[in-house]
Amino acid sequence: MSIVNAKDMLIKATGEKYAVGAFNITNLIQMEAVVEAAVNKKAPLIIQISVTPSKFLGAIVLADIYKTLAESAPIPICLHLDHCTDVEYCKVCADAGYTNIMIDASKQIFQENIKQTKEVCDYCHSIGNISVEGELGTVSGIEDQVKVAEDEAALCDPGQALTFVEQTGVDIFAPAIGTAHGVYKTKNPKLDFDRLEKISELINGEEIKIPLVIHGGTGLKPDVSKKLVSLGGSKFNVSTDLKHALIDATHNYISSHRDEYNPGKIDIAVKKDIMSRVEYWIDILGCAGKA
Ligand SMILES: [Zn+2]
Repeated sequence: MSIVNAKDMLIKATGEKYAVGAFNITNLIQMEAVVEAAVNKKAPLIIQISVTPSKFLGAIVLADIYKTLAESAPIPICLHLDHCTDVEYCKVCADAGYTNIMIDASKQIFQENIKQTKEVCDYCHSIGNISVEGELGTVSGIEDQVKVAEDEAALCDPGQALTFVEQTGVDIFAPAIGTAHGVYKTKNPKLDFDRLEKISELINGEEIKIPLVIHGGTGLKPDVSKKLVSLGGSKFNVSTDLKHALIDATHNYISSHRDEYNPGKIDIAVKKDIMSRVEYWIDILGCAGKA
């Protein structure tokens, strides 16, 4: 049951108006923490890894650990490569056993984005049941969040979104609607809800075909997160929040046990705090009990 791609679980989520948490990890402790938290909540799960930690640990090592954990877990779990700008590395991870690949050619001009996304889709679909995520528009870093959110040109154009999904064959789609990676500097980040609703209606109005992804979940308030889900976001990415949990838990443990040299206890503290954050998000996203 447990090794799955992202598309099928997200079509179900879109239909039932909840989102699957997609949690970024950088090591084994975090991977085990997100799996155990999702198992506790009986929630479907997407484990994400960015290109740098994927290359550092090795795509095959990560895919093999994922398979071992997922095969014995009573929930569906997907392993996703996050924001990869390199078509060839997308193929490396697909070969290794990742079950969802994000080709992020959003910085390229429109036609080039279509070309690269289609190449990854064609490859992933030809070698197995691997789904692909593409992005259109700019999901900014926090430095540019306000600027991007106010710049129509940086956000995803709904008409182009339809052309993009039709011409690439992409399985899931990330439209830029003003969310950002990192920690928001403003209390109420400017998000374009109407744009998300319009894109959702255009792409999935008659039939749910291409689930939509919300990037930059960290720092969004519960009501804002729930609104994004209600408007069609069914994959909800959380990365920075878990990085903070990792660093803070490590720092706090060492600060209060400076004379102790037992790394296993740091791992336990980190795992506990990561699990707590993942369970928090699963409740907000409405995916508890949906596995
Ligand atoms: Zn992202």
